[in-house]
Amino acid sequence: MFVQAEMNEALLSEVRKKAMAVRHEGRVANYIPELAKVSPDLFSLSCMDTNGVLWEKGETEHLFTMQSLSKIVALSLAIEKLGTDTVFKYVGMEPSADSFNSLMRLEMSSPKPSNPFMNAGAIAICSLLYNAYGEDAFDEICAFMEGMTGVYPSFSEEVFESESKTADRNRSLAYFMKSVGFLHGDVETFLNLYFKQCSITCRTRDLAKLALLLGTRGICCETGKNILQKETVYTLLGLMTTCGLYNGSGEFAVRVGVAGKSGVCGGILAVVPGRFGVGVFSPALDAMGNSVAGLRALELLSDTLDFRGLALRK
Ligand code: GLN
Repeated sequence: MFVQAEMNEALLSEVRKKAMAVRHEGRVANYIPELAKVSPDLFSLSCMDTNGVLWEKGETEHLFTMQSLSKIVALSLAIEKLGTDTVFKYVGMEPSADSFNSLMRLEMSSPKPSNPFMNAGAIAICSLLYNAYGEDAFDEICAFMEGMTGVYPSFSEEVFESESKTADRNRSLAYFMKSVGFLHGDVETFLNLYFKQCSITCRTRDLAKLALLLGTRGICCETGKNILQKETVYTLLGLMTTCGLYNGSGEFAVRVGVAGKSGVCGGILAVVPGRFGVGVFSPALDAMGNSVAGLRALELLSDTLDFRGLALRK
């Protein structure tokens, strides 16, 4: 008979210890100079269950920038404001075996980015949000994030400036999409919005809350409020499962087995439907830009609490 293990303090301590033992296999992102200043020894893990009980371990008060984790918030807002049909005219729904900031497929295949989590796709989403909200777009993203986590987020001016000054690659993506007539207007305003959303700060407990909201069909466990439409949640979960960790998404599906999303900050969130929202942070990254200790922590949690067997259980 299958016996379901429970979340407990000792498990979180063991997960932290074992996960941090592999952090030396990764390196902190340095292509955004401000991110290179972060200590690789930081670790934070938060899990919230459907009763709103929060389990935490590590440097849980540490604030970090969301980077690509913000793409979940911007995409949810775009879908709810503009509708699925409009959004997916500008981005695909397919995983890509390329790195998150790859240029190659845009020219070789189609200027329509493979999915909204690739940088090109997220910049296209920013163009839609900018065209819908103008200069208020960033405030709208922050307000939407407040709806999802209960906290209006702050923002790191330093990380924003740092990325903005060094973003040759993201500029190339945006200008390429404009050059072939796929994006219209002032791409610098879209990029500015993208760098700002990447510089929103959070703690792992915010990621856990965000993940939990997706695992409960958009209904907040604490307030009972319906924050996201069910269709938005299902779209997000499908994309996270197939594309959330970029070219590491297949391995994540095998090793952890739930929908997830990562960022080069070293954060990962994971949705364990009907059970937990999990947020983990540790800044040393693998070659695909995913947190090494974060992945290990989620794998250990999944093994012990049997995340991968969820769909098979009665
Ligand atoms: N701001 C980062 C970038 O555009 C986000 C990438 C990521 O987190 N994978 O490169």
